[in-house]
Amino acid sequence: MKVGVLALQGDFREHIRAATECGHLAMEVRRASELSGIDALILPGGESTTIIHLAQSFDLYEPIKEVIANGLPVYGSCAGMILLADRIVGGIAGQKTFGGLDITVRRNAFGRQVDSFESDLEFNGASLHAVFIRAPWVEEVGKSVQVLSTAGEHAVAVREGNLLATSFHPELTHDLAVHRYFFDEICKGR
Ligand code: GLN
Repeated sequence: MKVGVLALQGDFREHIRAATECGHLAMEVRRASELSGIDALILPGGESTTIIHLAQSFDLYEPIKEVIANGLPVYGSCAGMILLADRIVGGIAGQKTFGGLDITVRRNAFGRQVDSFESDLEFNGASLHAVFIRAPWVEEVGKSVQVLSTAGEHAVAVREGNLLATSFHPELTHDLAVHRYFFDEICKGR
């Protein structure tokens, strides 16, 4: 598969590595023309306010909303989860998202003293070591959203149709389980 990784800011290189290790052709996306011909898109971790601002400046905002609406499989980690969410709590004034995923996310949810932490979670029936960095959690999910993983009370991995989002950063570990789930369970069925 040809996998585009939005490469405006954040840890897109790590997602390129993970997608490549899963056996796919991964490419950086910085302009709208690079969205054509991809089979899947990844929105990396980083800073959601910066990424959305750059997406608007690079004329990528509407084109990305459009590929999401057209059913392209999209996976967002951390900031990428925020970018896929229909609703944000704790965003900056007027913070926009691409949306598509019927969830409310709370930005920087885990609080200052635990800005960054690691935790063992269950994901898709297996244990997974997860890295959280100023991570959001999912505060509310719509009816067609499936919760794939929780940390304490909070959903930290969710799927709705072709959209997958995690609060944590599997791209920063060597565990490819989340990427494989995205490629094998979500992208393949298309
Ligand atoms: N707190 C960041 C944001 O709001 C997300 C952090 C991350 O991607 N590690 O975009």
